[in-house]
Amino acid sequence: MLDIAAIRAQFPILTAPTAGQPLIYLDSAASTQQPISVMAAIADYHRGHHANIHRGVYRLSRTATRLHEAARERVAQFLNAAEPVECLFTRGATESINLVAATWGRANLQPGDEILISTLEHHSNIVPWQLIAATTGAQIRVIPINDAGELDRDAYRHQLSPRTRLVAINQVSNALGTINPVAELIAEAHAVGALVLIDGAQWVAHGKTDMQALDADFYVFSGHKLYGPTGIGVLYGKRRLLEAMPPYQGGGDMIERVTFEQTTYAGLPNRFEAGTPHISGAVGLAAAIDWIESLGFDAIGAHEQALLQQATARLMQIPGLEIKGTAQHKSGVISWVMTDPPLATLDIGTALDLRGICIRTGHHCCQPLMERLGVSSTARASFGVYNTAEEVAALAAALSVIRDAAARQPRITAPAEPVL
Ligand code: PMP
Repeated sequence: MLDIAAIRAQFPILTAPTAGQPLIYLDSAASTQQPISVMAAIADYHRGHHANIHRGVYRLSRTATRLHEAARERVAQFLNAAEPVECLFTRGATESINLVAATWGRANLQPGDEILISTLEHHSNIVPWQLIAATTGAQIRVIPINDAGELDRDAYRHQLSPRTRLVAINQVSNALGTINPVAELIAEAHAVGALVLIDGAQWVAHGKTDMQALDADFYVFSGHKLYGPTGIGVLYGKRRLLEAMPPYQGGGDMIERVTFEQTTYAGLPNRFEAGTPHISGAVGLAAAIDWIESLGFDAIGAHEQALLQQATARLMQIPGLEIKGTAQHKSGVISWVMTDPPLATLDIGTALDLRGICIRTGHHCCQPLMERLGVSSTARASFGVYNTAEEVAALAAALSVIRDAAARQPRITAPAEPVL
């Protein structure tokens, strides 16, 4: 069992919010808040160890380099990667996917090849593939979902073929919370010779991640959804795949030797990390990993599932509220619309904000998914380790009040006859 009071005490933004009003933060799927240990690690780095890495002979630079590379080792341990060099630092999940599309995709895709993505994908796992498909002639195919927001496994099996070069799917849907059975999906893809990229942005903070058990070829995530800083993320790739990939961006640090005629490139991981990296971000990410692992994923999972069940039960009681995404396996994300009376999700979000409750409204960077669901947007609450049953109750109570107030408004109906 998590000691939620002790956890909350480590989040200044929750205990002493600067906006005055107590904060009910239900938007962790967008970005988690940061515990003080992460802030302290970053501040400590800036206070005593900051210098550019790799090239300095002086001790300070060597220390900064050591901290940066220690962060990589921490990430590798967290993911149970076979080797730290399989873990590349990027700006986040988006950049990680773009890197694979731009380098592996450019080198390997040709007309007739297929990239299989799913209806549940975030735009960051759609658009990079569209860009590379346009330049290579490869085709994108989309795994359909059922009305509950679960992947259609039969359709997937039929879509897989020797033409499938890559399957790119998320482990958890950010918009609906669906948890995809990625281990099975990966095994099925491998059986036809396809590689698999897993977008773990919405998973890594909620459950154990094990690259060697999962056998994903590429895996991506962002620090800011894992109680760490923004601007840092990870691309995991199997060593033999990364080594065969051409470089992504050119610049300092990624070379072995440069002449005006020709450049030879550095080995892993530097080949894919051109320029000065986000050193303090890597340090903060390592601290976030230390922090989340100290809580234990079994306890985290149990707490977040309890919040999800409570939220689902409470929101289902609100007349006219329709939950979108009712998959059997869901993470702590709940999406809904209000149809009776019809209320714009923007208005729901704004009315909740007036009560100090932060949720997200809109298409959640999943416009094709919204279209499949027959809506243009949803309201979404998402839970982190610091959320409480009281907060969920406050959300449900506020939604009831908002709904009842809207129901009391006189309906504006179009006049039967033209007025003029
Ligand atoms: N994939 C999923 C499932 C996400 O939820 C997000 C962030 N909303 C991303 C990718 C992109 O992450 P980032 O913006 O940190 O690059």
